[in-house]
Amino acid sequence: MDIFDKAFNYTAAREMQAVGLYPYFLPLEDTEGTEVVIDGRRILMIGSNNYLGLTTDPRVRKAAIDAVARYGTSCTGSRFLNGTLALHKEAEVRLAKYVGKEAALVFSTGYQVNLGVISCLVGRGDVVVADKDDHASIVDGCMLALGEMRRFSHNDLDHLDRVLAKLEPEIGRMVVVDGVYSMGGDLAPLPELVEICKRHSARLMVDDAHSIGVMGRGRGTAAHYGVTDQVDLIMGTFSKSFASLGGFIAGDESVIHFIQHNARSLIFSASMPASNVAAVLAALDIMENEPELVDRLWQVTERMRTGLKALGFRMGPSCTPIIPIIIGEMEKTFLAWKMCFEAGLYTNAVVAPAVPPDQCMLRTSYMATHTDEEIDRALSILGEVGRKLALID
Ligand code: PMP
Repeated sequence: MDIFDKAFNYTAAREMQAVGLYPYFLPLEDTEGTEVVIDGRRILMIGSNNYLGLTTDPRVRKAAIDAVARYGTSCTGSRFLNGTLALHKEAEVRLAKYVGKEAALVFSTGYQVNLGVISCLVGRGDVVVADKDDHASIVDGCMLALGEMRRFSHNDLDHLDRVLAKLEPEIGRMVVVDGVYSMGGDLAPLPELVEICKRHSARLMVDDAHSIGVMGRGRGTAAHYGVTDQVDLIMGTFSKSFASLGGFIAGDESVIHFIQHNARSLIFSASMPASNVAAVLAALDIMENEPELVDRLWQVTERMRTGLKALGFRMGPSCTPIIPIIIGEMEKTFLAWKMCFEAGLYTNAVVAPAVPPDQCMLRTSYMATHTDEEIDRALSILGEVGRKLALID
């Protein structure tokens, strides 16, 4: 048996490519925020995580360019040994303050934050409890941990209560949820989660990848609900609203200090390049000083949500700038994606295992920089595709 047999026999993606319905790994030739260029065609983007549109903001661009000029292109080593810049420390102090925590620690990606934080905190004999819809990086962090992983049905508080109630009192436990769920666009009910965690002496970690810059006037889901001091750990990524690459964890100083000396994905991987940190700092300046940008993101979102509702699309419990258009079966979803794409609209086709097989969807997400005209154009294309596929009347 050749270990490569699984690769030689892997045909699913090539079959989709052969029939022209493969929506992944598409090379963008240009990206100017709300529009991208693919195969020489300009396409309206409603499938990015660039919530505040800052990837092309002149101030963010300049900060990154200046940082390359000053520090070069790479740190070439980990935070632990030789890759910590004063800039990383500055970002940590400012991010902690922004989300309302004592301390923060920056990692090279958000994925590595979840991997490193969960695996170093959940030791042998401990239990980590994750929502069934948690992001893959949380699941991978749980699988890497020496402690045990338990799951509870998505946002099912009674189920979580039962899972925690079954644990022996001496077992250390942490609950991990997404603040905003990356596919459904719905929120974790943090006040109720805080109450359940307190009652069961569990620590609570919230992944705010899709919430910073979006919820709580930018400061995240805990700020949105007014429970910042009761959520133990807040995780964020820089690959979305912050218009960069990297991630952070924020919490009590002693816990962050422990993570800094024990998270393997921090210690054994090179640190964020200066240009990425500088972009984060410039984005943070804008988020602090121009919260009206967040307000605009919500205006765009509500215009779109109202329009989609009027057209009759199914959107599930979304209440954020992530608005899924639920299609159902996979083939129809790929077809809808293709028809949108040909009409000049970029969405994300999401199929099993990311969602249940009968809940395949076009994931759409919005930016503060979308114009009303762009939103209306997107609605018009989606309306036409929806009618042709009998998704709406
Ligand atoms: N958590 C969530 C909820 C995410 O959606 C993502 C990225 N899609 C991550 C973590 C990982 O972040 P990064 O892209 O910075 O690795």
